[in-house]
Amino acid sequence: MREVIDIHTHFINFDYMPDEYTIHLLKNNIGILAKPLKEEYFRNQSCLIKALIGLLDGLGIEYLKEFINALNKVDFVNNPDVIDTLINEGEYLLPSDIKDEYRQGRLGKLILCVPLMMDFIKASNYSTPTSAPGVIPYTQQTREHSFLAARYPWRILPFFHFHPERHDALLRCKKAIKEMGFIGIKIYPAMGFYPEWGDNENEIVKNNLRELYEYIQRKEEGYLIPVTTHAQNGSTQAIDLKTYQTREFTRISNWKNVIKKYGLKINFGHYGGTDFLDNGLFDMNKREFSEECRENIRSLMTRYNKNGVKLIFTDTSAHTDRKRPYFRELNADLDKESHLIMFGTDLPVTTPFTLNKDYINAYEENIDSDKKKERFFKTHALDFLFEGGKVPPNYIEFLKTNYQAGKVEVDPFSDKGMPDYVKKHLTIE
Ligand SMILES: [Zn+2]
Repeated sequence: MREVIDIHTHFINFDYMPDEYTIHLLKNNIGILAKPLKEEYFRNQSCLIKALIGLLDGLGIEYLKEFINALNKVDFVNNPDVIDTLINEGEYLLPSDIKDEYRQGRLGKLILCVPLMMDFIKASNYSTPTSAPGVIPYTQQTREHSFLAARYPWRILPFFHFHPERHDALLRCKKAIKEMGFIGIKIYPAMGFYPEWGDNENEIVKNNLRELYEYIQRKEEGYLIPVTTHAQNGSTQAIDLKTYQTREFTRISNWKNVIKKYGLKINFGHYGGTDFLDNGLFDMNKREFSEECRENIRSLMTRYNKNGVKLIFTDTSAHTDRKRPYFRELNADLDKESHLIMFGTDLPVTTPFTLNKDYINAYEENIDSDKKKERFFKTHALDFLFEGGKVPPNYIEFLKTNYQAGKVEVDPFSDKGMPDYVKKHLTIE
């Protein structure tokens, strides 16, 4: 079975998101129907919602009910079952929602996933939620990701969400990386700032970004920390902004100078989205923006990824709209050695559209050579996560500490505790 690394997932539940965001997220799946709804309807699954779900199921939004069940399991430390199912079964579902048929015909096996934190509170000017008992604090979100990283050594490698509007962002970020099992950073300009620090007016944002880039450049942790950013139209985390505003912040060209100056290793998540395939009938801007993103990502890849250097990456997360031209482009892309495209899902955002099994299978069935599949599903991700094939020292320390404290059952450095991908591709110093 194909070994698969998912470079782009999110561990979220209803408590992670202010109510406004839940509805916004559901809008991705059920469109304007979500507008008059409230999060509490989904939490309690009223008759109305059950009827709606039944209706949508008939329209091809098949796993909405299961998606909502999964989001209802809040507090990952006490209820890690959804994440357990993801690691063991490859689906972002509750164990009770897994059917036998979901296990059949699976062509890929998830060997590692990279959850990107989502800093919702700071994402907009919306106040904290009204009906939910409370959105979990940022500190707890960091702790929960850390708990799950310790629960699944080598299988879960979280990225810390660095939001430069938080005055203590760098302090939190360093703590997460030094002590909590995080190995990368997520930066999300679509929330209202420019990645080039000098382009911002807010002094806190400016300083935080500059200091972050300097911290990465110094390799204080002994390796070049990878960064993932958002690179497509729209944004779940910035609903206080209009789409045209998030586009301005998201533009790939905004990154050119900082990449050059600080030598960042960066993954442009979503690869501009799949709007480049859109007929442009309803929104020409969407299509143009998608094309612009893709062109700029490709030109950065050509420029920087050569002579053994690998700095610019992209991923296929949330590409649920895949037809024949999509795979034609992907295959042509993967013909070029410099195009470091990685497999990503954006789970659980994709769950209402498709089983993860089918999402993976489509790539396995449509990428036209074994060599390309190996690069797409695994090698590129290893290059992105592990500079020079070395496991980050902070991560080794994290595993050791947790093993000594009895939080990890099997010694992660023993033959039994170490997965094949580590043995085959990585070195531990
Ligand atoms: Zn995402």
